[in-house]
Amino acid sequence: MNRKIPVICAAMILISFVLVVFTSYLPQKNALAEEQKYVYLTFDDGPSDRVTPEILDVLKRESVPATFFIVGVNAKSRKEILKRAADEGHTLAVHSYSHKYSEIYASAESLLKDIGACNEVIKSVTGEYTDLYRFPGGSFTVAPELIDAVTAKGYRYIDWNASFRDSEIACATADELFNAAITTVAYPQNVVLLAHDSTTKSATAQALPSVIKYYKDAGYTFKKF
Ligand SMILES: [Zn+2]
Repeated sequence: MNRKIPVICAAMILISFVLVVFTSYLPQKNALAEEQKYVYLTFDDGPSDRVTPEILDVLKRESVPATFFIVGVNAKSRKEILKRAADEGHTLAVHSYSHKYSEIYASAESLLKDIGACNEVIKSVTGEYTDLYRFPGGSFTVAPELIDAVTAKGYRYIDWNASFRDSEIACATADELFNAAITTVAYPQNVVLLAHDSTTKSATAQALPSVIKYYKDAGYTFKKF
């Protein structure tokens, strides 16, 4: 009996040690998980001659990736801008070929035709089709059967949970867009920011450096889809 006591003591010390290590490790791991914050910059409706290159300049200077949901008709004569975006590590994704709501949302067939035409433009630039798609207006404005048709075709659709509001604020200043981009955040751990790089959105390009600085200072990692 007496010979067992040291064994029991040793076992109890070992168990205590394991428990101490385990419990001290757990909170650290949770704290680490809480610190992972991501922001996705997404630009719709481009490319455009002036704004898209300005945005690409900023992204390059800041070493930040982004996702461009392109409009096929705008891209036809601006493939070199798309090529530059792809070469600099950004993702090209489908937004629409015509961006005419009345046409694309008329039926599942016309929607898929529009998406397919836009994807052809992307393939002509990158050599590959994409499975990434953003509904013009957002999926929450679209009939469920159209969403089903798109997903059945193998597309993943991406909405947003924060916005520069550069399509809503008329004649917005860069400061107004900056404020929108940092205050409209619905899910602070995983921010998907909507912005536009179409021809009238110079204020978006002007606001972008401050927006990037804000999220960098707040400890976010920039990601692309
Ligand atoms: Zn759009």
